[in-house]
Amino acid sequence: MFDYHTHQIVAQGGFFNAVTRADWEKIAAAPDPMMPCFGLHPWHAQGVDLGAYAFDLDDWLSRHPSAGVGETGLDGSERWRDSLDAQRNLFHIHLGAAFRHERMLHVHGVRAWPEILEILRERRRCGTLPALLLHAWNGSLEQAREFMDLGAIFSVGLRELSHPKAEARYARLPVDRLFVESDDAPENFPRAVALLSLLRGIA
Ligand SMILES: [Zn+2]
Repeated sequence: MFDYHTHQIVAQGGFFNAVTRADWEKIAAAPDPMMPCFGLHPWHAQGVDLGAYAFDLDDWLSRHPSAGVGETGLDGSERWRDSLDAQRNLFHIHLGAAFRHERMLHVHGVRAWPEILEILRERRRCGTLPALLLHAWNGSLEQAREFMDLGAIFSVGLRELSHPKAEARYARLPVDRLFVESDDAPENFPRAVALLSLLRGIA
């Protein structure tokens, strides 16, 4: 089963997301069935030369026609909220690149889903919304429906699936919208797959 969000090469294949710019060469060189994603994690948004970065990203996406864009997003947790302005600027660059190149955008959100929803709705109003994967999805079922209206799909790992609210959040999401990810812990992938099928059995 394909891994919808990972930062390592995994045997079953997966969306191989960049954390920093230094990851791109390694990601581009990963063998099939890994799917490269070029981006910059919101934790590293501070101090980026946005013009040079946008130019670089365009170039890499042009040369890798099957690559996605990620990881990106907004992290409003206490540790990262001081850099939210920089995170927003970078998020818009990633959104624009994903739309222009017709790629999927791989989105990280912590204490930021309402703001991300507003940004995405504005993009839809302007006709510039790319395809979306929301990773480590931990919002409510109602919130998920709002993102599904924008075409989003979701991925969850062992951490999300072990949460006390997991059944309420995930059991009723359509099978073609919710997928399993390993993020930083490939060893947890089989347990996450098993937990999700258990939840679906309950539904
Ligand atoms: Zn990640």
